[in-house]
Amino acid sequence: MNDYRNDKSTCTFYTKIGACRHGEKCSRTHVKPLSSDTLLLPNLYQNPKLNKNEGEELSQKQIREYFDHFYKDIFLKFASIGEVDSLVVCENENNHLNGNVYVKFTNKDTAYNACLDLNQSWFGGRPVHSELSPVESFSDANCRAYETDSCNRGDHCNFMHIRKPSGQLRSSLYRSQEKRKILRELKDLGYEIGNDASETSKNTNPNPSINSNANNENSDSIDSKSSINQPTTSEPTTSVAAVAALFK
Ligand SMILES: [Zn+2]
Ligand SMILES: [Zn+2]
Repeated sequence: MNDYRNDKSTCTFYTKIGACRHGEKCSRTHVKPLSSDTLLLPNLYQNPKLNKNEGEELSQKQIREYFDHFYKDIFLKFASIGEVDSLVVCENENNHLNGNVYVKFTNKDTAYNACLDLNQSWFGGRPVHSELSPVESFSDANCRAYETDSCNRGDHCNFMHIRKPSGQLRSSLYRSQEKRKILRELKDLGYEIGNDASETSKNTNPNPSINSNANNENSDSIDSKSSINQPTTSEPTTSVAAVAALFK
């Protein structure tokens, strides 16, 4: 299975990073997987640094808030399809990595079905493209120098320049997924927990210890335009249903 990864005719950039600067014209082979737990959604993140109006200056705070909002929206969308193992977003400025989103699900079947689903979707007014990706390890694909702000290849580096969401958001998203999983398992065991456990947790819960404030999914819906196209200054509130509506 992994033999092609060591084959000299195989493009290691495509295999390790899921995208190579030569694209389809690469002289080495891009071996596209028939099965993978990881999806690539190329150019999904609209990097505000590249999309701002001329003369406009964005503060680090605005970029951070814009990014957190985006990360939350897509995480909830992916988690509504299946359990997310990890999710990374690139902020490189070269065409083949710009805004790439990689999501690793906990199994290949989920990733396959998610790929079909996402290819029927729109996000922020644009059609989504999704493909199975050969990337096995985000830490191998990651540019370590970028983490310490010392990448001398700059924004056109061919390794992933991963933008991270704020730590609190990240942990609350993963915790909320944990909670949904527990609620789903309880439902499978025959506990009556009201409406679809994947969307709400305000219903009667047979085990009070499961309750937590890990997420705020029971909150207001979001406006796709303000959440995706413009930096916002307030902490977004999102429900899975609202995110599902955002992806049409
Ligand atoms: Zn290549
Ligand atoms: Zn780099």
